[in-house]
Amino acid sequence: MLSADLHTHTNCSDGQLTPDQLLAEAVEKGVQLFSITDHDTLAAYRQLTILPPEGMKLLVGIELSCTWRRMTIHMIGLNLDAEAASMLEAETKQGQARAQRYEKILQRLTKAGLDIDTERLITLGGSCPGRPHIARYLYETGQVKSETQAFDKYLGQGKMGDVKECWPDLSQAIDWVQQAGGVAVLAHPIKYRLTRTKLIELCTDFKEAGGEGMEIISGQQNPTQTKTLSEIAQKLELLGSVGSDFHKPGQPWAVVGKVAALPPGVTPIWTLFD
Ligand code: AMP
Ligand code: MN
Ligand code: MN
Ligand code: MN
Repeated sequence: MLSADLHTHTNCSDGQLTPDQLLAEAVEKGVQLFSITDHDTLAAYRQLTILPPEGMKLLVGIELSCTWRRMTIHMIGLNLDAEAASMLEAETKQGQARAQRYEKILQRLTKAGLDIDTERLITLGGSCPGRPHIARYLYETGQVKSETQAFDKYLGQGKMGDVKECWPDLSQAIDWVQQAGGVAVLAHPIKYRLTRTKLIELCTDFKEAGGEGMEIISGQQNPTQTKTLSEIAQKLELLGSVGSDFHKPGQPWAVVGKVAALPPGVTPIWTLFD
């Protein structure tokens, strides 16, 4: 069976390893089909100084933030041309949206009475500022008990730090990826915590907007959820993708290359890359 991991992060977004370290880790784990999919940036591909070894195929990838019905959704673009004009546009626009959103979140938290050192947070955010930087800051300054609590109380979906209307809609994200010759995959559908009906609506809209695949295996997910996703993918004729969503070592639920097999009946997205 092919060992694939098509969703991972480096320190070019909110991951911990450098691009070289992550690629080396994937090689060590025996991954044969691999992608680095940082949030809204392809910087990792510009920073890599090592090549994938023989026996590993590295697909250029990205995880784009976008909007569906006022909710933030993530979409993975795979096998794209990093030099394409649409990707340059995507990186620029997403970078601007990220910076503006970050500022808005900090303003809201300040207004709510939290102790926010804007200058320090902007430094912490670096070139890809996001909620994980704020969560870490709140934890390190003793304002929450854990980074998870920061999301639960202030940053997660529906909380004050969940700034709406900063990302493009789903079809824009799909277009950017497809214009760069890539394929569009709906990321971690379980994470949006939708009802079954809404989940089917999201996947249907994604397919209608031209999306090709959806992640069937991602992070922490139980067998019932995997079965639901597999049924939806087959019904809508979406190809199946798999990814660890690795961010840093020490998280047993997200280890590079450790992804369950695609359920039989789902056509793998890599049939497109042969
Ligand atoms: P952002 O890119 O700013 O929207 O932040 C989203 C990122 O935050 C995700 O990709 C995860 O890495 C992280 N994240 C989301 N929810 C949580 C959570 N509940 N606990 C910890 N990290 C989270
Ligand atoms: Mn992340
Ligand atoms: Mn994501
Ligand atoms: Mn991710």
